[in-house]
Amino acid sequence: MKFEGKVAIITGAARGMGYSHCLFLAREGADIAAVSRCKNTRGDELSENLKKVISEVQKLGRRAIGIKCDVSKSGEVKAMAERVLAELGGIDILVNNAGIEEFHSVAEMPEDEWDQVLDIDLKGVFLCCKYALPYMIKQKSGKIINISSIFGYQASPYVSHYCAAKFGVVGFTQSLAQEVAKYNINVNAIGPGPVNTDMAAQEAPVFGPLLGIPTENYFEECCKRFTLFGREVTVEDVSNAVVWLASEDSRNLTGQLILVDGGHV
Ligand code: NAD
Repeated sequence: MKFEGKVAIITGAARGMGYSHCLFLAREGADIAAVSRCKNTRGDELSENLKKVISEVQKLGRRAIGIKCDVSKSGEVKAMAERVLAELGGIDILVNNAGIEEFHSVAEMPEDEWDQVLDIDLKGVFLCCKYALPYMIKQKSGKIINISSIFGYQASPYVSHYCAAKFGVVGFTQSLAQEVAKYNINVNAIGPGPVNTDMAAQEAPVFGPLLGIPTENYFEECCKRFTLFGREVTVEDVSNAVVWLASEDSRNLTGQLILVDGGHV
């Protein structure tokens, strides 16, 4: 097992890719702190989902705690890191996966929508690093994996805030990688292509008409047309990259953006 005795924090763990990252890291021996704000963009409670992740991880024989935390709120992130340390005894791996995507043209975008996307998708990454790093620096080891997007490499209309945040995550990753290599900490980013989660489903009515793809089978058609393999990029594909970047197998890789997109860009 790659992560026996290691503790991993995964943000946005209640569903989608974050949920999968928890199980993949636990299968390789990591104890898991599953973090979510326990709300989706429509405000529904997702705490039941978080309980499900914890029970799945525990079935794998690992320790797991669920923490309700909004990654855009400094006080909540600080408390989250302190709780992980107190209850699981360390922080070895941080996967900054929490994110939201909204859709508006720049001219029509409400200012608070811009702020919300930047606060969660970019500032949230900064805050989680800020409060996890002191422990990683002290122990002189750590793996930070920031989830960007293909929209952090190649832009798209109607998601200017999301693109600004996800491009920002890549710049942040490169800068931080240079700061902390002396403490044996690797910092890398992953840019998933379209992956069939609740977030991707939100894209269909916006990008479908723009690309001339029917909304009903938007995801399948999008993968068929725009990836080189013509097949789906799955949550498991992305989780495999997370496991690799969290492991010593990638120890000489830092400051990189790995696109898991089937050749989309
Ligand atoms: P998802 O919407 O299914 O899951 C996102 C999770 O983040 C949810 O559990 C949500 O509750 C949580 N979250 C949102 N705001 C939060 C906050 N302020 N604090 C804590 N948790 C919060 O999305 P997903 O598709 O699994 O996306 C995961 C990551 O991958 C995101 O960063 C997303 O931008 C990125 N991504 C997704 C795709 C895709 O096609 N699905 C493509 C590229 C990048």
